[in-house]
Amino acid sequence: MALRRSTWLDGYYCKVRSIANANPLNPRSDRDITTFQRGSKSSPYTPSPVSPWIISSPCLRYPSVHTPMYKRVAQLSITPRTPLNAFRPPLGTMPPFKRKASGPAAAPLQKRQCAALPNPSQYNDSTNEIKYGIVLRKYYPPEMTNDRAREYISGKIERPIEALNKAIHETQAARDNVPVGDSVVHWYKNDLRTLDNKSLHLASEKAKTHGIPLICVYLVSPQDFEAHLTAPVRVDFILRNLQVLRQSLAELDIPLYVETIEKRRNLPPRIMELCSRWRANHIFCNMEYEVDELRREAALTRACIDKGISFTVVHDTCVVEPGKLSSGAGGQMSVYSPWHRKWCAFLNQYPKELDCFPLPVRNPPHARQSFLELFDCDIPDAPESKCLSEEEKKRFRALWPAGEREAHDRLSRFILERVGAYHNTRNTPSASGTSILSPHLAAGTIAARTVVREARSAAPNQKLTDDRKQGHSMWIGEVAWRDFYKHVLCHWPYICMNKPFKPEYSNIEWEYDLDQFQKWTQGRTGFPIVDAAMRQVAHMAYMHNRCRMIVASFLAKDLLIDWRMGEKWFMEHLLDGDFASNNGGWGFSASCGVDPQPYFRIFNPLLQSEKFDPHGEYIRKWVPELAEIKDSKGIHDPYGRGYEKIAKMNGYPRPMVDHKTSRDRALARYKQGIGRETA
Ligand SMILES: Cc1cc2nc3c(=O)[nH]c(=O)nc-3n(C[C@H](O)[C@H](O)[C@H](O)COP(=O)(O)OP(=O)(O)OC[C@H]3O[C@@H](n4cnc5c(N)ncnc54)[C@H](O)[C@@H]3O)c2cc1C
Repeated sequence: MALRRSTWLDGYYCKVRSIANANPLNPRSDRDITTFQRGSKSSPYTPSPVSPWIISSPCLRYPSVHTPMYKRVAQLSITPRTPLNAFRPPLGTMPPFKRKASGPAAAPLQKRQCAALPNPSQYNDSTNEIKYGIVLRKYYPPEMTNDRAREYISGKIERPIEALNKAIHETQAARDNVPVGDSVVHWYKNDLRTLDNKSLHLASEKAKTHGIPLICVYLVSPQDFEAHLTAPVRVDFILRNLQVLRQSLAELDIPLYVETIEKRRNLPPRIMELCSRWRANHIFCNMEYEVDELRREAALTRACIDKGISFTVVHDTCVVEPGKLSSGAGGQMSVYSPWHRKWCAFLNQYPKELDCFPLPVRNPPHARQSFLELFDCDIPDAPESKCLSEEEKKRFRALWPAGEREAHDRLSRFILERVGAYHNTRNTPSASGTSILSPHLAAGTIAARTVVREARSAAPNQKLTDDRKQGHSMWIGEVAWRDFYKHVLCHWPYICMNKPFKPEYSNIEWEYDLDQFQKWTQGRTGFPIVDAAMRQVAHMAYMHNRCRMIVASFLAKDLLIDWRMGEKWFMEHLLDGDFASNNGGWGFSASCGVDPQPYFRIFNPLLQSEKFDPHGEYIRKWVPELAEIKDSKGIHDPYGRGYEKIAKMNGYPRPMVDHKTSRDRALARYKQGIGRETA
């Protein structure tokens, strides 16, 4: 997933040509800039006894526990499912100017942008957003104005999810009448699993009903990896998951065809070409909620039907689909707690929403013969820009075994051993109290629906509640945060376009001190808890949630560095990089996101360290320079608490800033930026 999942058209005040009229084969053409202003049949789930599912890999935190998955599965209740700036005007009020596009809709991006801009020099590509890579100008427009963001808020601009819903609705009748063809296709994206996968299940049912084969496809898109800042470790994980997936599907005589498409704009035409080649008239996929993907699927829905192909996009990644929960006034809620109560109530009222989509059925016997070359296709290597070194490959592969069986195994061990105490241990980074399932949820090797269902089955109370004093419900509540941020993304899509959820927070004057930023990334800030956390990422491509909050607050508030640089860096390094959750977490910590920490609440890194790593175990593990400090007070502040000699001797730096001074500066800057004293 992506850091900037906005379409490049969504620069300032760009009026977008109707998607319906666009060249649907070219996703960029739907962004023709005409004006541009500044700016179950459910078979119970029974893994094969010889299946590698039962081989528990040595994994993080559970080195000695190898609970066979099938044992756990037998205990689980899987029930049948019913179908179901470049140009930021100084603080925001510059009047818009309009530009007419003169280039053809499908002209290359650079050309079209130039054509749309009589005087490109008016686009100030030296702004901090561009200079520091926050906006990747190769793919995206400059940052949008606050006014345009507010047009999204008011609903004046159509949200991408609305465009897709409209496309689905308007093509429904035609799609229902499309004859089935010779095969059915499931297009894999971030759903790299066979079990509890809605689109895959629907595709399989369609194929089964008509006695024709199911073909699965995954298109590797190096440009999407680049534009979405996908971490190399994540690319490696995706490719390894594809290997496992291909094997699991092959056991059902279902081919997984994988192809690299160099230009992201060629993805939609290629998928249509493949359908024609395989004489497949029906293609299914699960919905992704980032802006580019929603727009692409809206265009593809229409383009496909023009070619006689039914393209079906379904909700799957969230437990409760976006748009289902609303406030009393009928809108999307922006505060988590009441939203979460509705989320629980919804699932209690419609418990079948949690039912499992069964595995796809085995393909007819002729499938192997007919699609032999698809079974033989190779999984490509990572694109050059996303390659890991041999040492990294080895390390990450040992830390993060791939595949949905690994994900299920991890889930079952967590539920058996830890979830009951989650409410007590979740905030202690050294306690191994969390599930570490985020990489699997991000890759889709396990469904959020699955993890909630399993945790609920094991809970003392089968009703979902917001009880934060009980491990199971607390943990399910955390998984709900993942849904929450995706719902927010759908309703306020400009957060995908470099804007903070609260547009006025883009008026804060940030620092861009690269030397300080580098110290933060390298874990050499002189604040042991911050450094420990940053080194955890460097080694594992993962960081504990409490530490994510601490380091994010430190960057945005103590250093006052543009939080989007931190957000980007996280995406480039995390195995679980997920746009909505990452953006939500940064928005929370920098106080400019949805339901954020108020800006005047500024984490004191020393107090956080003492509270959440009271014995200094986490620090000792990740900051070896301080490992010999046994004093559980001194370890948090070696220079201030009598351990200067050890710290100095081992090359551990002094604190790079004084927290109190930084705090005062942050408060002043926030107040000045948002022009008021309250959150
Ligand atoms: C600055 C910042 C950046 C973050 N970036 C990401 C990211 O890129 N990808 C990501 O998956 N999570 C992100 N999170 C959320 C959270 O830190 C991770 O989901 C969590 O640490 C993953 O560990 P776990 O699987 O052991 O979580 P557990 O505590 O076991 O929780 C179970 C699952 O619930 C979800 N979840 C838990 N907490 C949150 C949360 N605060 N927001 C959203 N979902 C949550 C995750 O899918 C997680 O796997 C971020 C948080 C912050 C503060």
